Amino acid sequence: MNFLLIDDSAIIRKMVKIALKKVFKGEILEAGDGLEALNVLTMNPVDLIICDINMPNMDGMEFLSRVKETEDFKDIPVIMLSTEQGEEDIKEAMKRGAAAYLKKPVKPDVLIKTVYEVLKKSY
Ligand SMILES: [Mg+2]
Repeated sequence: MNFLLIDDSAIIRKMVKIALKKVFKGEILEAGDGLEALNVLTMNPVDLIICDINMPNMDGMEFLSRVKETEDFKDIPVIMLSTEQGEEDIKEAMKRGAAAYLKKPVKPDVLIKTVYEVLKKSY
């Protein structure tokens, strides 16, 4: 199982990585913004993406749309993980094709449970 973690905060990426590593085998790739993440995606097979919203260069909403509009990437489930807690943000993310929406700070067990649920639905 290969993951791609996208967040401009290295600390958040590290926390998510530690939680995933306890449960899953495989590669955990990282990117600091949406643009970097698109580059990582073109070069690596990824099974699931966990993505922040507020980031420089390309934010998570834009990234999500790009992924869902790209034939090679559109079936990869994307879990959004953000401090944005508004109903509008959640609705917008789901409309753009997010598989789930988690609010920061997320508890490791909630994160893992959501990853399992999304994987079960997607594969
Ligand atoms: Mg951010």
